[in-house]
Amino acid sequence: MSDLTRYGATRDDLTELFDGLPRYRVDQVWQGLYEQLATPEELTNLPKALRAEVAAVLPLSLAVVTEQTSDRGETVKWLWELADGTQVETVLMHYADRSTVCVSSQAGCAMGCTFCATGQAGFDRHLTAGEIVEQVVRAGRRARDDGRRLSNVVFMGMGEPLANYDPTWAAIERMHGDLGLSARHLTVSTVGIVPGIRRLATETLPVNLAVSLHAADDELRDSLVPINRRYPLSTLMDACAGYLQAKGRRLSFEWALIDGVNDRPGDAELLVERSRSLPLPAHVNLIPLNPTPGYAVRGSPIQRVREFRDELRAGGVNATVRRTRGTEIDAACGQLRATQVKLPSRTT
Ligand code: SAH
Ligand code: SF4
Repeated sequence: MSDLTRYGATRDDLTELFDGLPRYRVDQVWQGLYEQLATPEELTNLPKALRAEVAAVLPLSLAVVTEQTSDRGETVKWLWELADGTQVETVLMHYADRSTVCVSSQAGCAMGCTFCATGQAGFDRHLTAGEIVEQVVRAGRRARDDGRRLSNVVFMGMGEPLANYDPTWAAIERMHGDLGLSARHLTVSTVGIVPGIRRLATETLPVNLAVSLHAADDELRDSLVPINRRYPLSTLMDACAGYLQAKGRRLSFEWALIDGVNDRPGDAELLVERSRSLPLPAHVNLIPLNPTPGYAVRGSPIQRVREFRDELRAGGVNATVRRTRGTEIDAACGQLRATQVKLPSRTT
């Protein structure tokens, strides 16, 4: 079924929609939308009536609810409303060497990770490919207005991309083929949906894979990440090894450090073992836990975060601490929406 929104429509849809227009006109519309990230009004190479028609027959799918800027303009976060009233969020982050957009793949999430605001709020629905691509385009326009070029996309907003495989993959192909983003700059982050990882390994585009591990033993992981009961660590590690073998590229593990829960010395040791059991050791991204309304435990103190990183490095594992961005605008997974729907206030 076609998705006749501005970034859901395919090129063939455009040809059909503007039946009777010369082909070069259809090409101009497509190039305007994808290469110039233009709004229909900005397509000044088109007759005025056609600009108006493009705007009318290809509506946008994201309406701004809030737009917040922090880190002196280096971080921009949007809360969007979709056509059916559900809400999702997108974050744009400018760094010295790149500009990265963090996109949502679902409204809400059904995976129920205990420490995650999106997981706490539950699942609304899958996003369409057009809704995912439009997040990238809207952020790309903003980056351009900030004098930057959007270069990287990470699927680390709301939702589990591999539980919404086809739209996610269609969006990735559009980002690569039409927005001109390099596959090496696209990162899918997953909680560990094993069939999805195996399928990803068969795709031709070698995107980066980030696996949200958070625990290196099944007992702890079962409690933090409930889907671990379905895909336990042995199965997950096997799928990760398969991905590495297929792509020949390093993957990364995400680890949100939670005080007294997964930052014990034994945890670092187990994580080193897991990481080094792969054909290429996984890179570990340590994220200081962001507080959420539904999870009382705090993030590890920064001193412990650094020690944990050093324990990993001493074990021969490449580890970095991710800078938290936009903390004053709740730019962590699902948190802006959580604030908007007025869940109980945070526990810090
Ligand atoms: N569902 C996917 C992608 C979205 S979540 C996944 O889980 O990987 C993106 C990242 O944010 C994941 O690594 C997730 O574990 C992490 N995350 C979720 N809640 C967090 C919190 N409260 N603090 C820090 N990181 C969090
Ligand atoms: Fe879903 Fe990822 Fe949050 Fe888990 S961490 S609930 S998989 S969005």
